[in-house]
Amino acid sequence: MAETIYLDYNATAPIRESVMEKVLSVMKIEGNPSSVHGPGRRAKAIVEEARTQVAALVNARARDVVFTSGGTEANNAVLRATGAKTLIISEIEHDCVLAAAKTSGLETKFIKVDANGTVSIDHLKSLLAEGPEKPLVSVMMANNETGVIQPIQQIVEVSKEYGASVHCDAVQAAGRLEIDFASLGLDYLTLSSHKIGGPQGVGAVVLAPTAPLNAFIAGGGQELGRRSGTENVAGISGFGVAAIEALSDIHQKAKTKALKDRLEAELREFANDVIIVGDQAPRLGNTSCLIMPGVKGETQVMHFDLNGIAISSGSACSSGKVKASHVLKALGFDDDIASCSIRVSLGLNMSDSDIDAFIAAWKKLYDRTQKS
Ligand code: PLP
Repeated sequence: MAETIYLDYNATAPIRESVMEKVLSVMKIEGNPSSVHGPGRRAKAIVEEARTQVAALVNARARDVVFTSGGTEANNAVLRATGAKTLIISEIEHDCVLAAAKTSGLETKFIKVDANGTVSIDHLKSLLAEGPEKPLVSVMMANNETGVIQPIQQIVEVSKEYGASVHCDAVQAAGRLEIDFASLGLDYLTLSSHKIGGPQGVGAVVLAPTAPLNAFIAGGGQELGRRSGTENVAGISGFGVAAIEALSDIHQKAKTKALKDRLEAELREFANDVIIVGDQAPRLGNTSCLIMPGVKGETQVMHFDLNGIAISSGSACSSGKVKASHVLKALGFDDDIASCSIRVSLGLNMSDSDIDAFIAAWKKLYDRTQKS
């Protein structure tokens, strides 16, 4: 049977060979990083090496990296643990940020986005001006469904004028954009290992030297009291290796972008009613959110699956629920159109023939549905 063409890197990137080797070798080593004996010290050294590697991915200090069980936990930790009384978050944040805000009990205000899915700085300013003082502003660096890149530098500058702390979910941006945590002036940034070819179930909060992070999970006080629980040593070591490789991938991002641009150009030429969401805004080079009017996202996903191509409809984390994407609705699409979207997300090992196969399958479905 032919291998699946995997175009769903934003859901999870295939694990890197070097990561697998590292994880396997670390799993053979005994030792709890909190133990003071030799094996414990060796386990701790592995965790600390990975901390340095993850810090390098975003130009932060190693001691400011706190390992978690993934992006979801990292985002929850930041939203609930800073002491802010008010949250100001964008309408297009990942479900885990929206849900963490909802269950936090904190007053939450939502920043609007424009028709391309870029956060409105003017609206952010007006929300900040309403008070109360010192809210936590949370805006993602790049959207998981559309790939649209947010003006984080401007968001930080405006927020700081009002004394706000700023969190940025960089889960989809890491390894695809250069991230300089130190010069962005952020208070918090969150990462996930499996989006950069590391193991699933590992992530991190990166925090500014003075930013508080009251322990979200109580226990033995690991991670300098900022996140309890014995560290996932093997997973963390794999995250570290993935971080080093993801950092060098950034220099090759033009390759993925060229494939994505060709895919979009060919679909546009074939069907003038195809909608490429966010195409007027800066976007990640690997992500394309496509609407085929009249054909539900789930139907499209099944069609591509039958053709040996893996993609997702809306956000992978919410698939299974047949409801229109909150991201596309925030951009102004009605339920009918929003429910006809798919997300194609590419990785570096993609070839021209993978893209050709996708385009052929898309055209086949378009012809079948639009002519009937
Ligand atoms: N934030 C964004 C933007 C994401 O795309 C995801 C996963 O899709 C997450 C957070 C959650 O990360 P994790 O799967 O590591 O919990």
